[in-house]
Amino acid sequence: MKRIASWLTVFLVGFSLIVRAHEGMWIPILLDIDNMQRHGLKLSAEDIFSVNQASLKDAIVHFGGGCTAEVISEKGLILTNHHCGYGAVQRLSSVENDYLKDGFWAMDHSGELPCAGLTASFVDRIEDVTDEVLEGITDETDIAERNLMIAMRSAQIAARSTDGPAYSAEVKSFFHGNQYILIVKKTFNDVRLVGTPPSSIGKFGGDTDNWVWPRHTGDFAMFRIYANADNQPADYAADNKPYAPAHSLPVSMKGVKEGDFTMVYGFPGLTEQYMMSTGVEYVTEVVNPIRIDMRENSLRVIDAAMASSDALRIQYAARQSRISNAWKKWIGQNMGLERFNALEKKRNFERSFSEKAASSQNEYYKAVMSVLHELHTEMRPYQLARDLFIEVVFYGPQIIDFSRKLDGLFATIEEGAEPDVIESEREKAVRAAKRYFKDSDQRVERDVFEVIIQRYLAAIDPGLQPEKVKEIRTRHGGNVSAYADRLYAKSILANEEALMKLLELGSPKKILKIKNDEAYLLGQSFFVGFNEQIRPQYDAMRAVLEEAMRIYVKAQMEFFPDRTFWSDANSTLRVTYGKVEGCIPQDGMAYLPHTTIEGVMHKYKPGDVEFDLPERLIRLYEEKDFGPYATDGTLNVAFLASNHTTGGNSGSPVINANGELIGLNFDRSWESTMSDIMFNPDICRNISVDVRYILFVVDKFAGASWLIDEMKLVHN
Ligand code: ASP
Repeated sequence: MKRIASWLTVFLVGFSLIVRAHEGMWIPILLDIDNMQRHGLKLSAEDIFSVNQASLKDAIVHFGGGCTAEVISEKGLILTNHHCGYGAVQRLSSVENDYLKDGFWAMDHSGELPCAGLTASFVDRIEDVTDEVLEGITDETDIAERNLMIAMRSAQIAARSTDGPAYSAEVKSFFHGNQYILIVKKTFNDVRLVGTPPSSIGKFGGDTDNWVWPRHTGDFAMFRIYANADNQPADYAADNKPYAPAHSLPVSMKGVKEGDFTMVYGFPGLTEQYMMSTGVEYVTEVVNPIRIDMRENSLRVIDAAMASSDALRIQYAARQSRISNAWKKWIGQNMGLERFNALEKKRNFERSFSEKAASSQNEYYKAVMSVLHELHTEMRPYQLARDLFIEVVFYGPQIIDFSRKLDGLFATIEEGAEPDVIESEREKAVRAAKRYFKDSDQRVERDVFEVIIQRYLAAIDPGLQPEKVKEIRTRHGGNVSAYADRLYAKSILANEEALMKLLELGSPKKILKIKNDEAYLLGQSFFVGFNEQIRPQYDAMRAVLEEAMRIYVKAQMEFFPDRTFWSDANSTLRVTYGKVEGCIPQDGMAYLPHTTIEGVMHKYKPGDVEFDLPERLIRLYEEKDFGPYATDGTLNVAFLASNHTTGGNSGSPVINANGELIGLNFDRSWESTMSDIMFNPDICRNISVDVRYILFVVDKFAGASWLIDEMKLVHN
């Protein structure tokens, strides 16, 4: 294994010369720098990632744990997507201070708004620890023992690798367990909102334009990292200072041309390129159609509510975006995979794998393909039950997830804990209830409940349904609508006034009565059902599947030595590169690489929720008052490039050959969303806001030129 591990490293670096340009997300300590330079990069590997000197990595931020941001000034100013800052902005918004609708701009440091709970992390170092993690482990090692040894060693390595409370360390698996890498991060938690455009710029085009080219969205927002007097992470304090980074990205004013080298540096979330044909079939033919249908219907309810009042619009803004984003992505993913004959391609590949395996001496390689197919088939009902549990609990009616937030309080009361312990749990429950009611309206929730639970009932094997859900069939005649009416009319979890009063003032004995409430029981039934009937079987099969995948990936590397392999995205820091270029997404149709403000104006629909524009922007357009940010008399808004990106790359910087910021990655075209499973270099393109459009909005539209003054603008 040791040999394989070091061989793997040599392999990754050595064979990079034949990389099919643009596919792949590279670990920054294992860059194929020669190939990148051949494609136009002017930097060295050390300029991109170094632990000994300032490098680009010091400007790359894991934003809120899910998106990417980048440092663009020496005073800790960071740039990310409007859609990444959306939750934070929603929490700061009210009907009176509607920052979602009107935007927000601090005009000096004192105007910046603290965002409780928001974090900004930097990667401190990355180290290949494969040899240590896998020492003595062989293909013969029992799976449970193997996993235990890996978990223990990973925890030991992580524990000895942090230098204080601001640091966290984690050992992550790459190539399905063929490589292990230590990642040490430093996290700041005083992050403040500096500026965000109104949604009519930052979310211009709404769901209609999401995942679509041509695009005209100014999808950006700015925050600032604050540190203590020693420039170290600290909890929020009024006298914290703007963080002085080791590196901040210079901002290019030179413009972006077709063919220019581009590099995207960030934290891509999840790709599944090694997925088997049986897995692709499950995604495209089983789970995506059900999830798409569920979300389409809950969105219908939520969208209508949001259009009916400002209060509902603010209440549901972040949730609606979360639901609709993946909904539309899955539609595109299915379309792309079908058109590209992904299933057929996977099957063909599996056939050639099987041929190689048949003549191999390795018994594991011979067996792995049929083991994987069998596992996928056996796992399917559990996988579906798990996937739809996630849909219901996290994207469906909020009452189910909320129900478990009271469990801590119930447990302390039942255990007869000390009064101060009960009090502290009571406070937690009150806080959770306030958050839940702030972001939900019970009439909307009732309707979401109906459409989601109806579909859930129809989709899940009855043997795997939670008991209470089964009762909707057996005791309530399958009438979800009538059940929802009763539930939302009677449950205390749907009654803000009564529940808040009970939680704040009720005696412990009265509080425990909630445990007989129908909605509470339903919620419990979901969690108990999941933990007892679904999760154990799913996890057990998953562990075997992962082990089989490890062998499958290792075998591929041996069978096809002239192919290039890259490790799937796993929310760790990656570099991907390509160039500014359009594509032909469908027969007879071409995507040009740029859009301009002319297109923004063409799409403008006064009064429309998605395509309205602020008057000031229209005036600037009419007066052609673009400042120094124009190209040939117009303003470029967005561009396409062939970088392999995924969710989590939202907010990543697009960097030119010299290490300067030229754009802000925020999306992919609809045909590209298949790239999470299969990358098609002819079609897959990422979408970025041109940085000069961002500067234009900050400077000319918002009048926040003090922010431009702190950036390093590069003119030639
Ligand atoms: N817009 C995308 C997202 O929200 C980014 C991507 O997947 O390319 O996740």
